[in-house]
Amino acid sequence: MDNFDVCIIGGGPAGYVAALKLATFGFKVAVIEKERIGGTCLNRGCIPTKVLYSKAKYLSRLKSPAAGFSIDGYKINYDEIIDYKDKVVGLLAGGVEKLLKARNVTVFNGTGRISFAPDKKKSLPAKISVGYNNKTTIEFDANDVIIATGSTPAMIPSFNIDHKNIVTSDEILSMRAVPSSMIIIGAGVIGCEFANVFNEFGVNIIMLELLPSILSTEDKEVSRFIHKIFKAKGIDIRTSVAVETINSVDNGAVVTLKSGEKIEAEKVLVSIGRNLNTKGIGLEEAGVSIDPKGKIAVDMHNETSVKGIYACGDITDGPMLAHKASYDAVIAAMSISGKSKEKDYNILPWSVYTSPEIGTVGLKEGDKALENVKYRVGRFSYGANGMALAMEEPEGFLKVLTEEGTGKILGASGTGTDIAGLIAELAAFMHFNGSIEDVEFTIHSHPTISEIVPEAVLDSIGEAIHKANPRTVRK
Ligand SMILES: Cc1cc2nc3c(=O)[nH]c(=O)nc-3n(C[C@H](O)[C@H](O)[C@H](O)COP(=O)(O)OP(=O)(O)OC[C@H]3O[C@@H](n4cnc5c(N)ncnc54)[C@H](O)[C@@H]3O)c2cc1C
Repeated sequence: MDNFDVCIIGGGPAGYVAALKLATFGFKVAVIEKERIGGTCLNRGCIPTKVLYSKAKYLSRLKSPAAGFSIDGYKINYDEIIDYKDKVVGLLAGGVEKLLKARNVTVFNGTGRISFAPDKKKSLPAKISVGYNNKTTIEFDANDVIIATGSTPAMIPSFNIDHKNIVTSDEILSMRAVPSSMIIIGAGVIGCEFANVFNEFGVNIIMLELLPSILSTEDKEVSRFIHKIFKAKGIDIRTSVAVETINSVDNGAVVTLKSGEKIEAEKVLVSIGRNLNTKGIGLEEAGVSIDPKGKIAVDMHNETSVKGIYACGDITDGPMLAHKASYDAVIAAMSISGKSKEKDYNILPWSVYTSPEIGTVGLKEGDKALENVKYRVGRFSYGANGMALAMEEPEGFLKVLTEEGTGKILGASGTGTDIAGLIAELAAFMHFNGSIEDVEFTIHSHPTISEIVPEAVLDSIGEAIHKANPRTVRK
């Protein structure tokens, strides 16, 4: 068996990006993936959910066409939507497989494990084993190892997930027909994205959330805004509610609350978080530091407590996002190749695909890091933007925080059509330490949604152009 410079366990957005990057640098790389290349993101996460999201948006337009159109009738062929989703997933996963092949990365379709940790002091490589259906095992050496094994849906024994009536995000994406009713346990990002989509497809939705608000990690104003929109769409949101048990019954499932109340629906989606895949891969034996929840401790280069073993993506600290996983992978690859770069999550943008979508980057009101910072808040509404009105998408706002004195952009959050693009622009300004003036003198073409960016930024000092009663704090 060949030996490798680097072996990566897990072929999701952390693992396959690390492989492609290292191969570009000329390393001999192996990836071990027990399912299909692409991980959660391509196969069961970001991409399949966005196919459904895009179809739900299309459907929303059919149901309420733009002014000047009327549509007589439509039929939902949900089965075809799932076929299309599978086609997109296949195209993208197949594309990554081709890229790996083109860069001479060896892919093992089995389960990877570290059987001997690398010892950099003695120049001893790691020994890696690959198991196939627990029958055959092969072993090879690798100088460095990257663990990128990701996460799977969290389950609680009393929730009795049967993967049929009581399901997780994995199974719900393969359903061939929409149910008439659905209870969603957990109103975080994943729960809210599914609530948004299935509500559009005509499913009666009840959301049960233990915390006092939905989307509790988002800006409070944004989460209240989406709550209001969900309610207006007929989604029944119940917060501060504890679920005791869930039991499958004929043609559905019954949720029993701590209060004793019972609620029944055709499907129950459990979206209460993710478990980390860090057990049984030889990490404890190798001496890698792992916290009680299974999270692997890493330094600024994504190297673990054992030299030569790196960890990236969901299994390490920071938000569980595909682009964060890929960023970790690039940081680890740079370190292995001696072009070391320290990671910085302060400017990490993210989106939530509700309608309208949510976007955030950097600091937001209420964050601890703002406690000793003097900052101003600027905001601008989609309803005052020409392009948003032309597109009949007037719902939403962008809020930007700037530092008093320096005018530095500290963060932004908001909700509205294509907000991810506005957030990406602000992330770039933040990356280059941009200030209010930098945004002001960057010309934005007209008419575009992007004009909301300078307006919101300038509003933080009272100088938004298209806002009544402007004032200024600039001397
Ligand atoms: C429904 C849903 C929607 C999402 N939407 C978004 C979104 O819009 N945007 C976003 O940024 N993020 C989104 N995410 C999160 C995103 O999918 C994850 O953050 C990302 O996939 C993490 O990448 P990873 O490489 O760390 O792990 P994963 O993608 O989980 O990949 C890990 C891989 O390792 C493999 N593996 C595990 N153990 C072994 C082993 N011992 N041997 C071999 N292989 C192994 C697994 O089979 C898997 O393929 C979503 C997640 C879900 C569930």
